[in-house]
Amino acid sequence: MSVPKLELVCLAKEYGDGAVVAVDGIDLRVAAGETVALLGPSGCGKSTTLNMIVGLETPTSGDIHIDGRSIVGVPAGKRNVGLVFQDYAVFTSMTVRQNLAFGLAVRKRPKDEIARAVAEAAELLGMSDRLDARARELGGSELQRVAIGRTLVTRPAVLLLDEPLSNLEAAARLAMRRELRRLQKEIGLTIIYVTHDQVEALSLADRIAVMHAGKILQVEAASRICERPDHEYVAGFLGSPPMNLLPGEISDNGRTFRSGSLSLTLPAALALQKGSCTLGIRPESLTLTAPGDAPLSGRTVLVEPRGPDAVVTVAVASVTLTVVLPAAERPIPGQQAGLRFDPDALVFFDGDSKRRMDNVLPGRPL
Ligand code: ADP
Repeated sequence: MSVPKLELVCLAKEYGDGAVVAVDGIDLRVAAGETVALLGPSGCGKSTTLNMIVGLETPTSGDIHIDGRSIVGVPAGKRNVGLVFQDYAVFTSMTVRQNLAFGLAVRKRPKDEIARAVAEAAELLGMSDRLDARARELGGSELQRVAIGRTLVTRPAVLLLDEPLSNLEAAARLAMRRELRRLQKEIGLTIIYVTHDQVEALSLADRIAVMHAGKILQVEAASRICERPDHEYVAGFLGSPPMNLLPGEISDNGRTFRSGSLSLTLPAALALQKGSCTLGIRPESLTLTAPGDAPLSGRTVLVEPRGPDAVVTVAVASVTLTVVLPAAERPIPGQQAGLRFDPDALVFFDGDSKRRMDNVLPGRPL
């Protein structure tokens, strides 16, 4: 990446003299035209991060750069950062046109420039025929489009979207997600997208930064993060259902993994150190076979059909594993079953650092 459009440098925010560490020294580089999702559960520091970028909060330490220049000392109104959040912030008594014009009108831009920018934004948002409608007559997704349009007319260097779709019902959310994807392509905006919804992050972002307790645990391409979690928390947070995670121990010179009463012989090629760790395996990487000659066997306790596939819960010794199978291959609950997997699909996370262990021999793909 050359000079990133937006860069967060060891950015931190504490409240109450350090009693609450909302954001704990995060680093992030976002390229021009890129969409990065900040994904994490409620309270992990996403909104505080956005508020520092837009200028509503002052960082305790660290820096924020746009186009290579620090903006921490720049007043909020002069940062050229747009923020759209779930509560629309649209003036309901005004028309769509007045709402779209608002940001430029308060900046005292010339009338013809405002008219041009409003017409452009309305066209882009497919709202040219709604310009004279009162905002209070609009539905949820139209309101959200106006909120985004209001921000776009000011041509922000970076657009921040804070859970922008969470007030919409399911159908409108899908339509708006499509709309946002189109906008991303058409105007090449640089976007930070905050959400706790992994489906939204996976479908809209180029890269996902997973946050937990004020830290960014991993930044990865949206297309790869489910397959390559670097941290146990990320593995347990992403995917539906998420990766099976079995805390346990490696012994016998790296040849045996134990979790409770489950014991698994590991391929010698994994060359793992012994010690405490968590074994991860994705539900899609497990297949069911006849019991007997499989490396693991147990009893199916739950079968949950999901249309084209089914989630099967299998009790193996003292643990349970989830398996995702094509619906046609789903077993009957209560059956004995063997479990097979490709050894390459096994992932190990260090018991202390929770980071993925280097269980890959040089040249061997995971
Ligand atoms: P998220 O957006 O991921 O839900 P927030 O950034 O809102 O998380 O909050 C991160 C943490 O900081 C939470 O523990 C929250 O309670 C705390 N926090 C946020 N704002 C304040 C504040 N003004 N004063 C004290 N604590 C705050």
